[in-house]
Amino acid sequence: MNTDLIFDNTEVAFSLKSDSELERAYFLFKMISIEPLVRIGTAATNFAIKAHLPIEGLIRSTVFDHFCGGVNENDCLTVIDNMFAKGVSSVLDYSVEGKESEKEFDSAQHKILKIIDFAKEIDAIPIAVFKPSAFGRIYLYEKISTGEDLKTLEIEEWQRVVNRFEVVCKKAKDNDVAVLIDAEESWMQKAADNLVTIMMQKYNTEKPIVYNTLQMYRHDRLSFLEKEHKKAKEGKYFLGYKLVRGAYMEKEKDRAEELGYQSPICGSKALTDENFNKALRYIIENLDCMSIFAGTHNEDSSYLLMDLMNNKGLLNNDPRVWFGQLYGMSDHISFNLANKGYNVAKYVPFGPVKDVMPYLIRRAEENTSVAGQTGRELALLTKEKKRRKAL
Ligand SMILES: Cc1cc2nc3c(=O)[nH]c(=O)nc-3n(C[C@H](O)[C@H](O)[C@H](O)COP(=O)(O)OP(=O)(O)OC[C@H]3O[C@@H](n4cnc5c(N)ncnc54)[C@H](O)[C@@H]3O)c2cc1C
Repeated sequence: MNTDLIFDNTEVAFSLKSDSELERAYFLFKMISIEPLVRIGTAATNFAIKAHLPIEGLIRSTVFDHFCGGVNENDCLTVIDNMFAKGVSSVLDYSVEGKESEKEFDSAQHKILKIIDFAKEIDAIPIAVFKPSAFGRIYLYEKISTGEDLKTLEIEEWQRVVNRFEVVCKKAKDNDVAVLIDAEESWMQKAADNLVTIMMQKYNTEKPIVYNTLQMYRHDRLSFLEKEHKKAKEGKYFLGYKLVRGAYMEKEKDRAEELGYQSPICGSKALTDENFNKALRYIIENLDCMSIFAGTHNEDSSYLLMDLMNNKGLLNNDPRVWFGQLYGMSDHISFNLANKGYNVAKYVPFGPVKDVMPYLIRRAEENTSVAGQTGRELALLTKEKKRRKAL
């Protein structure tokens, strides 16, 4: 590895955090490192929300404020400005999940269009994002993915989903704002992938505007990337990819076991890591027609990407390469990368407290189950607390 090891600089990492915010972050990660507490807390919170108990204030002042920018986009602007002053951009992520009605899908589309307007005006927000399930029912994506015939009403419903994608991607292109499309459960992903490819063919003719997401915990994603590359070369359009490991591992494994099919997930963490790093190499080798947004909290993969850029002689701020982390996590990666001039953006989730609960629960569970992640956050926070005390 040629790259200097930069991620242990906690002064840079936590430069935006006051002493009391540092304490709060420490307390929070300490809590969510205790697995039974997360399990009980999740069940109790879900119950309390359904029973309309007044717990929003408690959620807001703890997990919500740590992992989210606010309840609406304007609420997030202070956080966004502060991060941008340190060179870290933002991707406003409307994190309302689990909605199923046409009205809610239209309202999500409206939000994303508004975010594209923001992105056009505000330098700190260079990129937009949405989830396929924000624009249509998962059931419908799943039905199409399995190749089943749709009923007449479903055909009309799907057309509305396609239109929502179309309107958003066209607006992104017209305003020269990149739009990332998140990846979700594998059983609905084929329909989403096909739709995103159509959008890329249409709107990525001059440069990547529409980005699909590759979940590299899936063992079939590298060959998918190769096939999409071949198609793009033939069709003469650009590819944009957000590269992630994948957030639905337990759900994927449970479903495969329950229904008796082979799990789409790599057999081990090491295999996922290898797959992720191979995709990094592949994309960097093909930057003539591809761009990448590396969504990861993994230090090794981040160093590898820095190394690959260095070996290729790319500038740190080459516009085809972005690093991405989630707000409230891995500031040591985000702020140290930005400090060295790399393009970095953090997803800043927002939405009404009760609607972002599925997102918050995923974060809490991830920080409990992902080996090393919480321990690492705690160690870095402790180091910074000590450093400040010694001043
Ligand atoms: C900016 C950003 C955007 C994201 N967008 C999406 C998205 O659109 N869709 C999505 O699904 N996720 C998304 N994620 C979440 C992401 O997929 C990961 O869950 C999360 O980032 C943890 O992975 P990591 O690369 O940071 O690092 P690590 O902590 O090194 O890896 C943890 C990940 O490795 C994989 N893993 C762990 N154990 C095993 C095992 N035994 N076998 C196989 N694989 C294993 C899992 O994917 C797990 O999440 C996003 C993350 C970021 C930072």
